[in-house]
Amino acid sequence: MELLTSYTLPELRKRFEELGFETYRANQVLRWLYKRFEDDFQRMTDLPKEHRQAFGERFGVRALELLQKVPAEDSTKYVFKTRDGHLVETVLIRERDHLTLCVSSQIGCAVGCKFCATAKDGLLRNLTPAEIVDQYLQVQRNTPQRIRNLVFMGMGEPLANYEAVRKAVEIFVSPWGIELSKRRVSISTSGLIAQLRRMAQDPLMRELNLAVSINAPDQSLREALMPISKTNSLQDLLQVLVDFPYPSDRRIMLEYVLIKGVNDSKAQAQELSRLIAPHRRKFKVNLIPYNPDPALPYERPSLERVYAFQEVLRSHGVSTFVRLSKGVEVFGACGQLRSKRALVVK
Ligand code: SF4
Repeated sequence: MELLTSYTLPELRKRFEELGFETYRANQVLRWLYKRFEDDFQRMTDLPKEHRQAFGERFGVRALELLQKVPAEDSTKYVFKTRDGHLVETVLIRERDHLTLCVSSQIGCAVGCKFCATAKDGLLRNLTPAEIVDQYLQVQRNTPQRIRNLVFMGMGEPLANYEAVRKAVEIFVSPWGIELSKRRVSISTSGLIAQLRRMAQDPLMRELNLAVSINAPDQSLREALMPISKTNSLQDLLQVLVDFPYPSDRRIMLEYVLIKGVNDSKAQAQELSRLIAPHRRKFKVNLIPYNPDPALPYERPSLERVYAFQEVLRSHGVSTFVRLSKGVEVFGACGQLRSKRALVVK
């Protein structure tokens, strides 16, 4: 069965034409799907009865099956199953005055960051655009308040699945789609230089919020923590980001997961400041105390140490935040969603 969420509006109009339906029916159907979050053709009451029947026989809406909802104090994790049996995790985070949805873009991840549980199995496969969009649709149907913020910070490296993520973004931000503001959609990447260059050329993608994991103030430590750095060096990465055509009133977020005794010393904060301070108008730094995983040998530093690190950056004029917000367990690093997989009841 074809999935409606695999299509952009122009594609669906073309598909309907091929099937002998009026093209404007595509606009009607997507309005139901993305404005009212309706998933049952029978309730799309401005369609003729025979169309509802015909669409229902040919098209499906749900790419994923919801297996479990795991509520926590200020977030809810949704565990989905793909049609080929993989688990996908999505987290809804309740922040002070808004909701943020953290979506996954891959099953597993090939990037191999040493501190990340998702990296352990490597990459199993990319998610399709329909599987990415359906994470949002299913959670929104479950949630009375509108979800207006979206982060690609779940399982996987979104830029390694560029085409599918791009198409999902088109559905998320288009006026005929879910119509989120581009400023409220964030891509969180480990820093794939070739894909960042591609993004810089892409008017749809380059206006999204960009968050890049740095995690170390020097090449050798970054290489040890993030092997991807061997081919995507820290120096080249920073240069690509400095050159990135980002709106001048916004700053690229540099993510730094603080790991006890590994990258959290004041000397390392000094070193990081030296790298970033010359570009302080282009960047801000987000310090994320590590979210420990029982299978990995890393620990979270004390808050004192976290704030001392922040103080050094601030003293160099670098705008720096500590992410201790409610979703902190979720926001550990892009792949840390997987570390809670033990919660899944099969
Ligand atoms: S931290 Fe992100 S990029 Fe790194 S291995 Fe985990 S999921 Fe992949």
